Amino acid sequence: MDCSSVYPIDAVLFRCPSCDGLLDVHHDVNPLKAIPATEWKQRFEQRFRTGQHPYNSGVWGKKEWVLPGIKDENIVSLGEGATPLVPVPGLAGPLGLAELWIKQCGISHTGSFKDLGMTVLVSHVNDLIKAGKPIRAVACASTGDTSAALAAYGAWAGIPVIIFLPEGKISTAQLVQPLASGATVIQLNTDFDGCMEVVRDVTADPSAGIYLANSMNPLRIEGQKTVGIEVIQQLAWQVPDWIVIPGGNLGNVSALGAGFELLLEMGLISKAPRICVAQAAHANPLYQSFQTSYREYRPVKAQKTLASAIQIGAPVSYRRAVRALERFGGVVEQASEEELANAAARGDRAGLFNDPHTGVALACTEKLIAAGTIEKGQKVVVISTAHGLKFSEFKTGYHNRSLDGVRSDYANQPISCEPDVDAVKRILDGIHGSV
Ligand SMILES: *Cc1c(COP(=O)(O)O)cnc(C)c1O
Ligand SMILES: [Zn+2]
Repeated sequence: MDCSSVYPIDAVLFRCPSCDGLLDVHHDVNPLKAIPATEWKQRFEQRFRTGQHPYNSGVWGKKEWVLPGIKDENIVSLGEGATPLVPVPGLAGPLGLAELWIKQCGISHTGSFKDLGMTVLVSHVNDLIKAGKPIRAVACASTGDTSAALAAYGAWAGIPVIIFLPEGKISTAQLVQPLASGATVIQLNTDFDGCMEVVRDVTADPSAGIYLANSMNPLRIEGQKTVGIEVIQQLAWQVPDWIVIPGGNLGNVSALGAGFELLLEMGLISKAPRICVAQAAHANPLYQSFQTSYREYRPVKAQKTLASAIQIGAPVSYRRAVRALERFGGVVEQASEEELANAAARGDRAGLFNDPHTGVALACTEKLIAAGTIEKGQKVVVISTAHGLKFSEFKTGYHNRSLDGVRSDYANQPISCEPDVDAVKRILDGIHGSV
């Protein structure tokens, strides 16, 4: 990104040895461009959700655009991607939007979009190991979802996995996932940014043979970039006005931008949507930088937030994200704890069941509509990054009103009752009376 050095795809590198910048995967697009857009659309549609492993995966159905060189037998796929894109009229109507769609990335093997990047990274590592590279294990620092994905894909491929987690800062489900997969789970008494520093040092020495799986690794971006492509495919190649995406380490928004870049370059679309990155106000370095038109950027000490997967103060992909935002008319909005919790609850009331990060994205969507940035009558896609079931403590706390600093506007509690028909009828009469 900073210099123009080029390295082969099988070099085990995570940063540029000459300028220390992050690396990007560079595709030779000329052979791809020789194939007309209509042909790509047909190929992608024909493979989508078929029985043809691994091409039925949302990622590997676009293999030529992701990692064309890998042998099919070395691909480690758990059927990731090809997730539902769901219209939510119960939210669109009150907000005055023409259409509001939720891209349900959490309806995936390990319950978050991290599967999209991890299938590519672990496949590549598998390919390297099969070619005789001395890799003993794969490691990552995580706010909970990256580790769940890495552990599952590693287990499938028989590759040892080492996980660094901030102790006490992830959900029970997120902790139990890598444990169940048999990963070595090391809890550090620090936050995500602290874990990231440790894993960088541990993987820096090539003789250790430990491969780094964090999103500074550009292979993850290659898989994640399919999400934007898939959204457009599911909209029958029509482009929405806006895509709203929650951001922490900012790999996912960078990937979103990379996907639109390719769609434009290959001629599958002629204009791109605008992008909004939604941040938690408690972890908002990109939001603050946006206020200065990116002239200033200061990492922050991330405060505790319900949106724990984006509790990140020093995002690794800041520069990649700014590039994507500048390219695609981007804006950055933030949401308070109460805003994100109530927005998630409004989503649930409209038929969703999403995580607090999707709550951040929904809250920011509402705020941008109120500010007139997103206009009434427009068509908006919100990227939901994880399944609500991974965050049952958040849901439970919301509904029993025990979340700090949150007034739960939609709290709902079970009604206890004797197993007696008359007693039940009295309760039901009360409900009817109040409707
Ligand atoms: C990782 C993650 C994010 C943030 O993605 P970045 O690429 O770090 O910006 C958002 N939501 C969930 C649920 C995540 O797991
Ligand atoms: Zn460089």
